[in-house]
Amino acid sequence: MTPTSTSHKRPRVALFPGSFDPFTIGHYSIVQRALPLFDRIVIAVGVNGAKRSMFSEQQRIEMIASLYRDEPRVEVVSYECLTVDLARRHHADFILRGVRMIADFEYEKNLAEVNRALAGIETVLLYTLPEYSHISSSIVRELIHYGRDVTACLPPGMALPEV
Ligand code: ADP
Repeated sequence: MTPTSTSHKRPRVALFPGSFDPFTIGHYSIVQRALPLFDRIVIAVGVNGAKRSMFSEQQRIEMIASLYRDEPRVEVVSYECLTVDLARRHHADFILRGVRMIADFEYEKNLAEVNRALAGIETVLLYTLPEYSHISSSIVRELIHYGRDVTACLPPGMALPEV
């Protein structure tokens, strides 16, 4: 009898790293579309001491965690180390990223090559939905700075804390 291939299968875990300052509807859409591909997704909020963020590490974690409070397959963590080291810690064999335009593609290709060379981790890239291709955290921060309503750029139901 041949051994069953499903009984001891390693769960498919993807790490979705980013600054998420803040998490936008573009990021949300990537996670929703990736959920059928993986058993678990770990959203990793990058903390860069040298880079000033609009939202604190705690605020970014709380905003994202509240979105996924009823989705046990999504975990939210923060990190300040090499992405591949974090991936190993969470038993993630894949890194999930999104691509909006050519500039993203070139950047992501380079990162994917580095991460594969460093740790053999494959990157799974999803193209953005056309309706979200113009949305970025930096545009959202700019709109907030000038007092504009950014509800349409955020995941459904996500509230922004005061900054
Ligand atoms: P980073 O600073 O690591 O680029 P971001 O938070 O800006 O972090 O983005 C995290 C990931 O999400 C990146 O792969 C980025 O290309 C992707 N992304 C950002 N905005 C969108 C969007 N509107 N649609 C699809 N992917 C997106």
